[in-house]
Amino acid sequence: MIYGIDIGGTKIEFVAFDDALEPVERRRVATPAHDYDAFTQALAGLVEEADASFGGAIGHKAPVGLGMPGLTDREGRALCANLPGVTGHKVAQDMAQRLGRPVAMLNDTRCFALSEARGGAGDGHRVVFGAILGTGAAGGLVIDGHVEDGHRGLAGEYGHLPLPAALQQKYGLPLLTCGCGLPGCFEAYAAGEGLIALARHFGCDAANSRGLAAAWRAGDGQALATRDAFLDILGASFANIVKLCDPDIIVLGGGLSLIDEVCAGLPQAIAGHLFSGLASPPVVRAKFGDSSGVRGAAILASLLEP
Ligand SMILES: [Zn+2]
Repeated sequence: MIYGIDIGGTKIEFVAFDDALEPVERRRVATPAHDYDAFTQALAGLVEEADASFGGAIGHKAPVGLGMPGLTDREGRALCANLPGVTGHKVAQDMAQRLGRPVAMLNDTRCFALSEARGGAGDGHRVVFGAILGTGAAGGLVIDGHVEDGHRGLAGEYGHLPLPAALQQKYGLPLLTCGCGLPGCFEAYAAGEGLIALARHFGCDAANSRGLAAAWRAGDGQALATRDAFLDILGASFANIVKLCDPDIIVLGGGLSLIDEVCAGLPQAIAGHLFSGLASPPVVRAKFGDSSGVRGAAILASLLEP
């Protein structure tokens, strides 16, 4: 038995997996984002309830993997804008001590990438880039089944690379400030609210990405112009990943990955920003969808020494 916990800004999802990584129990509680004691109490409560419900059947204390937004530095300190009560704390160490078992923690999009590289859509490939494209844009690099997230846990934040000046000029785009505080990040143009802002720039008043996709499928000129610029911008963003890491495959998750034109159009869009004659790696949709983050957290726990 392995426990995976996916911590979001509003909800904590707990899943107990069996040794074949099949989910056997799921629970959800609200995230105490501002109070560290309440936060650790919520995590401990989920683990202890699961321990009690499985009784002595496991025979050992199941290891715990935590997936969380934000970063964890090499000393284990969390840095997370969504969870102000948690920032600065060594969550994995504190929980390991409290629960008397191994606990590991990793950024949630890195967990997603790990899940898709191990048994997911990237399985069998040596270098996998897993990318979430939804309300935000972030991902993770997995090499030989292990996440390579760098010295500060930062590697994979492709959404916060800057939009090239060439594309800003090509589409006459305003310089937008990203949620992270930096000017001109890809995320501010191609994920969540950024995509809706991009649509408005082209005169299309879609309320959400589904409405936008419906409009371009119906042949709406402004929606089609948005689609073409969106794919071009995404192509440039992913071409940066290819130039730096040259993955064997890119696995896409998050709400925007569910729009068929995104996975289908990306390889050509990426190739347009690579050297002439160079093809893009394949781009495929995630196998485990929204469940991949918590599954990746459990895989992280499974890699811990007992
Ligand atoms: Zn940013």
